[in-house]
Amino acid sequence: MEEYVKAAIDKKFKAFGFSAHSPLPFPNEWSLTPEGFKNYVQEARYLIEKYGKEIDLYLGLEIDYIPGHSEDFAGFMRNTPLDYCIGSIHLVRHPESGKIWFIDGPVEGYIKGVDEIFQGDYRTAVTAFYRQTIDMVNTQKPDIIGHIDKVKMHNKQRWFSTSEKWYQDLIDETLQVIAAEGCIVELNTRGVYNGKTEDYFPSVDILKKCFDLNIPMMVNTDAHHPSQLDLHFNEGHRLLKKIGFKKVKTPFFEVGL
Ligand SMILES: [Zn+2]
Repeated sequence: MEEYVKAAIDKKFKAFGFSAHSPLPFPNEWSLTPEGFKNYVQEARYLIEKYGKEIDLYLGLEIDYIPGHSEDFAGFMRNTPLDYCIGSIHLVRHPESGKIWFIDGPVEGYIKGVDEIFQGDYRTAVTAFYRQTIDMVNTQKPDIIGHIDKVKMHNKQRWFSTSEKWYQDLIDETLQVIAAEGCIVELNTRGVYNGKTEDYFPSVDILKKCFDLNIPMMVNTDAHHPSQLDLHFNEGHRLLKKIGFKKVKTPFFEVGL
């Protein structure tokens, strides 16, 4: 964590937020363990103290919303005084069977999940992803919505087209709920710089809809290594400006573009 702070200072960041993956109720290779989470909070507090004069540091968390599995965000935030949370969906729960589709691992697992959990029906699977997102916004009200169209990552327009009406209708419905709750939507650059997507999360058509709905935006790199802290950071801001946004907004401050 200290390496990230040092990199942020080197890159002349004025502020930096930690956002590790919250603990999950089942074993996996990428989220914090409950023990790891305690260390994470302790380490962040130590670093906020140590580097507070050089950079504004915030203790956040990327929390997965899985109905029936994940802890209530508000309760979680009360027990651990986090500065902010990002609400994200990496695991899609089938609304009837309760089986869970992991959308963020290797593509083979993505395909297998749709075949086994959604009987190969991508429209139903993608609909479940956005329904779960809407449910998260309505019930958990996260400060920031993480990689809002992550479900497109492995698709590359192969199994469903993001220009189809049913897909755009889901986007519209999701964004309306977000606009009503006042959540910030992130422009997440990770898919582009790690070569997994051709465009950012979210795609330009969705960014334009965010602009029309007056949804506040911020640019995040979703860095998993200190060297990734500013990858496509300027490009992301330039794109927002091109679309018409006049500023970006974090849970703590706004910056003009
Ligand atoms: Zn994520």
